[in-house]
Amino acid sequence: MKIRVGVLGATGAVGQRFVQLLDGHPWFEVVALAASSRSAGLTYGEACHWVLDTPMPTWARAMPVLDTSPDATFDCLMLFSALPADVAGPVEETFAAAGYVVCSNASAHRMDEDVPLLIPEVNGDHLALLATQRQRRGWPGLIITAANCSTTSLALALRPLHEAFGITKLHAVTMQAISGAGYPGVPSLDILGNVIPHIGGEEEKMERETRKLLGRLQGGCVAPADFPVSAHCNRVPVRDGHTECVSLSLAQTVTREDIVQVWEAFQAEPQALGLPSAPKRPVVVRQEVNRPQPLYDLTVEQGMATVVGRLRPCALFGWKFVLLGHNTIRGAAGGAILNGEYLVAKGWVPRA
Ligand code: NAP
Repeated sequence: MKIRVGVLGATGAVGQRFVQLLDGHPWFEVVALAASSRSAGLTYGEACHWVLDTPMPTWARAMPVLDTSPDATFDCLMLFSALPADVAGPVEETFAAAGYVVCSNASAHRMDEDVPLLIPEVNGDHLALLATQRQRRGWPGLIITAANCSTTSLALALRPLHEAFGITKLHAVTMQAISGAGYPGVPSLDILGNVIPHIGGEEEKMERETRKLLGRLQGGCVAPADFPVSAHCNRVPVRDGHTECVSLSLAQTVTREDIVQVWEAFQAEPQALGLPSAPKRPVVVRQEVNRPQPLYDLTVEQGMATVVGRLRPCALFGWKFVLLGHNTIRGAAGGAILNGEYLVAKGWVPRA
């Protein structure tokens, strides 16, 4: 029997991805779709302006959109949250207190000491924070969070390098897609033919979250990785896919082949467990001088991998490369679904 799940913020850019990716999922069955009071009472087909390249699933089209008020009850065990951060803060806590397992995409709880900020290939062991969360909050349910979209693809590329060689400093410049701003997001007149060199809060998120993700568990909380991270974040007129130019220093002297070998060999628990949404290769290396590109490399591993390329020496830091990640798949809905699968596999969700 499948685990019954609901989607909060189901009508938005990330909510739609949840609906798309959960269609036919082997473990999860969507039984509730919720959004704001503006959409509540309409069918999902009426409320949602579907912007994805596969048809809206028939089962979703006819479903009533539910309100997300704190006293709402959903006939399910797990909730995937794609709520705006300000709404997510109190609402996700209320639902965890009511017994739901909340897998969130929102930033509201990512940096809470007792909330795992989880990418299973990067820091699966941080799930242990849930014991602290249960003890401190007394919730029968729980909250785990997925990382910010640009941080997620970055952390996947960094994990094996940090493990093998030790990162000592990091600099990243992003070129982030329009869909990262949700729907309808950035007005066309602001972004067409333009680059916007500011995304509110994004640089701070990348700098903080990267260090939490690569940090170590110590005495029931996470000691952040101790290398400095500096990020520049830009919005560019690309529909989907965040590209990042990354420079980093390593504690060891290594060759280009050493780095490529570590990336290509990278496997973690989700791959060993065969989780349904786990990519076979979490990091995919392109050797061409002009890849990765969003136009060509976004659907590698169904959008669940980080694609890296252009690895070369850097006069300032030691090494530099380019990476690409799918912001609404691995960077949002796909990442949160993998987190949910990981929770199930690790025994945090009772299977019917
Ligand atoms: P979005 O397109 O603006 O969608 C927002 C969703 O939240 C809609 O379903 C909306 O419902 C609902 N909502 C808005 N106000 C609400 C309220 N007061 N109560 C209940 N529901 C409400 O945003 P998005 O891009 O999908 O982002 C959703 C979350 O994921 C955000 O926290 C964002 O930071 C995070 N995230 C986004 C991305 C990305 O690439 N877009 C990546 C990673 C994380 P209505 O349609 O009824 O207004």
